[in-house]
Amino acid sequence: MHSQVNPPCLKTGFAQALTDWYKADHRELPWRDTTDPYAIWLSEIMLQQTQVKTVLDYYRRFLAQYPTIQALAQAPPDDVMKLWEGLGYYARCRNLQKAAQQIMEKHNGIFPNTLEEVEALPGIGRSTAGAILTFAYGQKHPLLDGNVKRVISRIFDIDQDVQQTAVINQMWQASETLLSESEEPHLYNQAIMELGATVCLPQNPRCLLCPVKSFCQACDVGTQHDRPVKAAKAKTPHHTIAVGVIWKDNQVFIQQRPEGGLLGGLWEFPGGKQEAGETLTDTVLREIEEELGINVQVGELITTVKHAYTHFKITLHAYHCQYISGDLQPKAAQAWRWVTPDELPQYAFPKANKTVLEKMLTEWQTNQPQSV
Ligand code: SF4
Repeated sequence: MHSQVNPPCLKTGFAQALTDWYKADHRELPWRDTTDPYAIWLSEIMLQQTQVKTVLDYYRRFLAQYPTIQALAQAPPDDVMKLWEGLGYYARCRNLQKAAQQIMEKHNGIFPNTLEEVEALPGIGRSTAGAILTFAYGQKHPLLDGNVKRVISRIFDIDQDVQQTAVINQMWQASETLLSESEEPHLYNQAIMELGATVCLPQNPRCLLCPVKSFCQACDVGTQHDRPVKAAKAKTPHHTIAVGVIWKDNQVFIQQRPEGGLLGGLWEFPGGKQEAGETLTDTVLREIEEELGINVQVGELITTVKHAYTHFKITLHAYHCQYISGDLQPKAAQAWRWVTPDELPQYAFPKANKTVLEKMLTEWQTNQPQSV
């Protein structure tokens, strides 16, 4: 095993072997057919933590609706969020629009062409900046996204935790060393990402098909399944949540989560975490009283939804509620509305709330809304 990254030990020819493999065959993807930095930037952001097959439809719809940086910068934020609904990691969407507005203000609407300027935009880190500048402007910058990290950890058989800053710095050096040989950096960078996505897979690397197998130190000694090394994570916490769909005069109450927080800018039904000793109904009553200052009667369960976020999991129970009394004074929302059920699909909801909404709409469309 190698105790440190040692790029100079690598045989020459890695970049050429990888690029030749990519040239011979690769997936046709719409963002590979363009040098428009806006379209490339959009794809890079959408692809963070998200699979290609999920991104494709969102990418096409988004570009059709907002074909330019200017169009995105000027769009109503709620409309942009609605287009992103279901793609997750919503801070990406908010940062994308903020960055578009900054490009309009500081760069006359033209995507900047230096690493420093691109990294200064909201939501763009070093690897994403390098990818955009390489693919749009033909510059030569190393990458270190999740796929590239995995490939490098195996090529150099890195036996240390790849989440440590010192190891990340060594991996950046390794990435730069591998790229330095390349005469076609835009193809090489596509190739190393493609290798990670299609051959050097997380669980089952397809080493027999790998174009750089002869360079791979982990494959050489049989440690590829143990790379990359990641320190064991603490058990993911789980929260039980109860929310109320509050009815009043054939309308339901929705509120918008504050910008900057988890799921910021998305709409939701009010509610919160169950506390020790509470029934779910108690939780709904308490949360609605605390958050909105009103009293409701809790009715039937609409549905129960399980959902996993990055750092925790939830089980969400949604109940019909009937408004009873009190002056509505939402405390934790940046906006709120009473809307008829057929207006609900206009708003962007997080995944778990969306499931509640769909169940409720199906009920509502087949029956009269339930009164409590
Ligand atoms: S030989 Fe296997 S582990 Fe090494 S880079 Fe190729 S697919 Fe990954």
